Amino acid sequence: MKKPKSTKRYCPFCNKRTDHKIKLLSTGIKRGTLKKGGIDRAKLRGRGRGYGNKGRWGSKPAVTKWKRKTKNTKKAVFIYTCQTCKKSHQSKKGMRISKVMLE
Ligand SMILES: [Zn+2]
Repeated sequence: MKKPKSTKRYCPFCNKRTDHKIKLLSTGIKRGTLKKGGIDRAKLRGRGRGYGNKGRWGSKPAVTKWKRKTKNTKKAVFIYTCQTCKKSHQSKKGMRISKVMLE
């Protein structure tokens, strides 16, 4: 899905329609990166080195037929930043889309 980088939108702080910049909310950090059992730390410890199917320690999980991913879309949340008051707010409803391109 293509989306413009800026639009005119209602600003709840200015209480009128103003120019807004659109930004996609990032998914954030990966879970368990600081844990001892986390893959990043386990690799530093020397687990999952070498070649071949590493299963749990590989870059990709060992995928079997019943473990295959079923969902191919994610909810995308957009952040709208008002250009007059510089305050930002989110879209009320997230959209389920596979890929977002801001242009
Ligand atoms: Zn505003």
